[in-house]
Amino acid sequence: MALCDYPINVLHERRMAGEITTVEIAQAVLARIDRVEGKLHAYITLTTERLVEKAEAADARLARGELLSPLDGMPLALKDIFTTKGIETTCGSRILRGFIPPYDATVVERLAAQGLNLAGKTNMDEFAMGSSTENSAFGPTRNPWDASRVPGGSSGGSAAAGAAGEALGAFGTDTGGSIRQPASFTSLVGLKPTYGRVSRYGMVAFASSLDQGGPVAKDVRDAALLLGTISGYDPRDATSADRPVPDFSRLAPDGLKGKRVGLVKEFQDAGELEPRVAANFQENLATLAGLGAELVEISLPSLAYAITVYYILAPSEASSNLGRYDGVRYGPRAESAGNVQALFRETREAGFGTEVKRRIMLGTFALSAGYYEAYYGRAQQIRRTLRGDFQRAFEAVELIACPTSPVPPFKFGEKMEDPLQMYLVDAFTLPANLAGLPGISVPGGFTEEGLPLGLQLLAPHWREDLLLEAALAFEQATDHHSRRPPLG
Ligand code: GLN
Repeated sequence: MALCDYPINVLHERRMAGEITTVEIAQAVLARIDRVEGKLHAYITLTTERLVEKAEAADARLARGELLSPLDGMPLALKDIFTTKGIETTCGSRILRGFIPPYDATVVERLAAQGLNLAGKTNMDEFAMGSSTENSAFGPTRNPWDASRVPGGSSGGSAAAGAAGEALGAFGTDTGGSIRQPASFTSLVGLKPTYGRVSRYGMVAFASSLDQGGPVAKDVRDAALLLGTISGYDPRDATSADRPVPDFSRLAPDGLKGKRVGLVKEFQDAGELEPRVAANFQENLATLAGLGAELVEISLPSLAYAITVYYILAPSEASSNLGRYDGVRYGPRAESAGNVQALFRETREAGFGTEVKRRIMLGTFALSAGYYEAYYGRAQQIRRTLRGDFQRAFEAVELIACPTSPVPPFKFGEKMEDPLQMYLVDAFTLPANLAGLPGISVPGGFTEEGLPLGLQLLAPHWREDLLLEAALAFEQATDHHSRRPPLG
């Protein structure tokens, strides 16, 4: 294994012991990018010109005993949805090509304060709409485990970069599963925080009531480290919660001992759970039980409506959020001979991809007079009911377990013809977004052909600590997280 194949916490310990330098780490990442990026296309924009220089600066700080944090100088990647001052931010869309933000997202600012060494901005489904990264205007990303398959989405570039050692860890956003599902498809740990835990300031909005930023990482300790860095109240985001952030680096051992873990009755019918995913999940449940968890069946009666509700609410919010892309304020503008309406229309026609247009139409319809009550209003009611279902369930259990995805990583094109098939992939992830709950996906094993599978755990609001501790116990009892993709 090269240095870029190790978790950050391991590399940090080794540099503190004087065995390796940050420069050597950065060079390993650079060499890996040189070798595999042409094939994988994890990045939209590389920012590696000063990667080694910044690592040198971190080494100098380390020598003076002034290292900013364990992340100082460690090459990381950001989904191209986070605004980065002076660095193009496209959100995977033609309509934002050439947009150079004049400010950093809060997530980026907080990372910078800890010594961020940015390797680049990663590929994604356009405006984070999708589950495969095939909706990127810049071409898809390949799965490092099998280049004929998708890395998941919408944060597929971040997951591929992390899994392939093109960065030591990365950040994504999760509106309906876009951190957890790609983490599962690439055998990484992916964590979606409680809604309000991580500031959305400077995160390009898709569906504002569902979007949360979070890490994809090689192991649970790295996920804890990355999460701790970006969490906390931000007065610039009105939905940011003013709550204390626990010290996620102090994870108690035995995180599953005596814990009641809920198994959702209704999840049996949701989506089509492939037999090999079902079998793997049963094995993982046995591991949880072996670690002292008590498995309890729970019921979430309104879960059957979750996909329907999500695909009304998310497009509704998107249709409103995307109204700002008119060719005047950001990015390219169509050369229009007509009036201002024609200018907007032609810019959008050329600037937005098929899936984004579909969502805008769906959302506009659901919000229009005469249909608003029947669709948007009704969906909001069911969302509230689902939230109540989860609240009741969490009176009986501390955690809920389910597979992250009903299917293993699929082939390119397999689900592009039929949007509904693509939407069904989110069956196990999007309920957490509707309820605002935190969720984690941990490497849960592999199919016979070596395709990664993920185990998902959900916890009550603000209990990322429970998630991380349980995930750590599971990780230590298995060795899936230490396997690396065959990069050829
Ligand atoms: N696949 C879901 C969608 O297309 C979720 C995407 C996300 O979490 N950003 O909306």
